[in-house]
This record gives sequence, structure tokens and C-alpha cells, in this order.
Amino acid sequence: MQKLEEQIKLLVELQGLDAQIIKIDNTLESIPHVIRKMDENFKGETAALKALEAGVKALGLKRKEKEGELEAKEGNIKKYQSQLNQVKTNKEYTALQEEIGRIKADNSLIEEDIIKIFDQVDAENKKIEAEKELLKRKEADIGVEKKKLSDEAERAKKEMEGLKSQRLALTARIDKDILKKYERVLKSKDGLAVVPVINDSCQGCFRVMPPQVINEIKMNEGLVFCDNCTRILYVEE
Ligand SMILES: [Zn+2]
Repeated sequence: MQKLEEQIKLLVELQGLDAQIIKIDNTLESIPHVIRKMDENFKGETAALKALEAGVKALGLKRKEKEGELEAKEGNIKKYQSQLNQVKTNKEYTALQEEIGRIKADNSLIEEDIIKIFDQVDAENKKIEAEKELLKRKEADIGVEKKKLSDEAERAKKEMEGLKSQRLALTARIDKDILKKYERVLKSKDGLAVVPVINDSCQGCFRVMPPQVINEIKMNEGLVFCDNCTRILYVEE
């Protein structure tokens, strides 16, 4: 076994590599999430557009219904008008005239409704066109963004390969027991296992270390762990 001093140096180096590996791992893990989120958003917006289109379709049906109603009522007016020539009494004549007047009043309301529907359809169609344009642009943007992310993932994977082989070479030089301890702390302490003591305080948890702990580190006789956060301590030269 090499001198402990040397081993600590290797651990510090390993910690640097592991920090990079963890960072790249996080990037690689986050990329699919980012892509999924973009796809979900786009899907939501596409659904909103479909809902607008369905709304316009429903308005069209409503318009047709009103037009049918109008046509039927116009037919009734014609029928009553032809009956006007056949009635025998003034009273009947007046009653028919009044009925015709009522239907005409109804019809002008229906006509107003139809005009309103036309206006609504116009407004909705404008919204739909704007939304379609927006979605087209977004789709293009998403395509660009996805390409960027997949390039980034590719780069990260390559970098990771390099780091992993560096790590392999480095760990081969570290004592197995020491490595085991290091990896245990690395796992339980969010990827930070080896920390310097600066101004007497552990740089993992910032607790001030008693002088005997600092002496112990300087003696280089064995790994020294922070009492508080359990990380491996060293003193920078
Ligand atoms: Zn600590």
C-alpha cells in the first residue's frame, strides 16, 4: 500500500472526477424529462386548437339549425299570406295578419342570431388561424431544441466515457478498503465524500473541527472522518 498521503491525493482527484460524472449524469437524466415536458406542452396546445375548431363546427351546426327554423317560418308566412285572400271575416283577416306579424318579428330575431353566429365564427376563425401559426412556429422551435438536446446528450455520453475510463485507471491505484469507504460516503452524502478542512472547519458541513482532529489528519496514519457529516477530511498543503 502506498503512503496514506498519496492515497488521499488520489481520493481528492477521484472526488473531482466523480463530481464531473455526477454532473453529467444529471444532465443525461434531465434531457428526456425536458423533451417530454416540451412534447406534453405541445400536445396540450394542439388539443386547445382542436377544441377551438370543434367550437366553430358547433356554431356552424347551430347556424344551420337557425336557418332551417327561419325557412320553416318563412313558409308559414307564405301559407298565411295566401290564406288572407280566402278568409271571410274581418276578424279572421286581422287574426291572420297578427300571426304573420308575430312570425316576422320572430324571424328578425332569428336573423339577428344568425348574424351574431357569423360574427362569432369569424372571430373564432381568426383565433384559430393565429393559433395555427403559433403552433407551426413552436413545432419548428421544438425541433431545433430537440436537436440541440440530443447533440448535448451525445457530447455528454462521450465525455462520460472518457471520465469513466479515467476513473477506472485512478481507482486501480487506490487501496480497496479506502475506496470502499470513500464510495460508501459518496453514496450517502450526495456525491461529496472528500472535503478539505479550511480555517479549521470541515468544508462538507462547516463544523469547526477540534485541534486533535486536525492533528490526526496531519499525522497521515489513517483516514479521518468528520464527526458531524462523516466525510473524509484532508488538509490542503
Ligand atoms: Zn463535516
